[in-house]
Parts: sequence; structure tokens; C-alpha cells
Amino acid sequence: MCEREEHHSCGAAGETGRFRLDQVECLDVARPDGPSIVKVHAHCHTCDSDFVAREPVGLTAISGGAVLSCTHCSNRQAIGQGVFDSLPSSGRRNSV
Ligand SMILES: [Zn+2]
Repeated sequence: MCEREEHHSCGAAGETGRFRLDQVECLDVARPDGPSIVKVHAHCHTCDSDFVAREPVGLTAISGGAVLSCTHCSNRQAIGQGVFDSLPSSGRRNSV
């Protein structure tokens, strides 16, 4: 898997408890005041729907992480930056 995308993938998949993260896309340059996550392809375990979260819909950057909100139901969960950092990094490219 080496397809080029607008944003590089910084995580392949992971479980947060309320959501399954199918793909996480990040900015190449991390913001000093928050996470560099720009888009999350996720699956909601509450309503069993797949959705794409990105600011301002479904994804809200907070200090030290982000809040992921299902776009189909009221399910939401704060996810720490450490969770994103620990995702399996199939497409990580930070060595520029
Ligand atoms: Zn949902």
C-alpha cells in the first residue's frame, strides 16, 4: 500500500472502545497546539455505521487529542493523541 493521498495516513486501524478507527489522516506538519489529525474514517459501534469525521463535523481538536463524534447518532468519545500515535503505522512518513 503506497498510494499517494492529500494527507498521509498516520494510522491504519485501531479500537477506541466506542469506535473502530479504519483510517486516520494527518497533516504533514504537526500543530504545536494540538493534534495534526485532519480526517478519521471510523466505524461507530453504537449505530453500526461507517462515517468520515473531519472538522468541524465529527472531529473536534482538543488539547492533547481529539473528540470523535458519530455523524449518525450521538455517540462520541475523546481520544488522546497517544491513541493515535500508537495506531499501527502502515503509512507513517515522518522522516522528511
Ligand atoms: Zn453512531
